[in-house]
Amino acid sequence: MLHRFLLGPGAYALAMIPAPFLAALRMRCPQCGQGELFQSYLKLSDSCRACGADFRAADSGDGPAVFVVLVVGAIATPLLFILQIAGAPTWVAIAVTLAAATALCLALLPLFKATLFALQWKHKAREATHEDIE
Ligand SMILES: [Zn+2]
Repeated sequence: MLHRFLLGPGAYALAMIPAPFLAALRMRCPQCGQGELFQSYLKLSDSCRACGADFRAADSGDGPAVFVVLVVGAIATPLLFILQIAGAPTWVAIAVTLAAATALCLALLPLFKATLFALQWKHKAREATHEDIE
C-alpha cells in the first residue's frame, strides 16, 4: 500500500490520511514519496530525483491561491471583527489582521500547491485540448 511506502513500516497512525494529502504534507513526490517536490519556495522541481517522475506534466496554476484566499479570508475576517469588538484601536486591528493574513498566505501556499499537484498527479488531470473536444 502506498501509505506504508510513504511512511515506512509501523507508521499506522497516519495511515488513514489519503496518499496524495500525505505526500503533500511531506512536500514529497506523489509518485514515490521520496523526492522533494519543490526546488524553491513555490517552484516545483522539473522531475523527481528519486524516481524520475516528470513534474512538468501537471500544473496547478492559480488553483492553490484561490483556496488559500478562501481559507485565509475565513480566518482573517472574524479576526478583524473580534479585534474591533474587543476594543483594539482600528490601526492595531488592521495591522494585526494584515500581518496574520500575510503570514497565513505564505505558510499555506506551498501546502495547497503540493496538495493540488498531488491530486492532479493521482487523477492524471491535465489541461484540456482540442483533441479532447472532438
Ligand atoms: Zn518520485
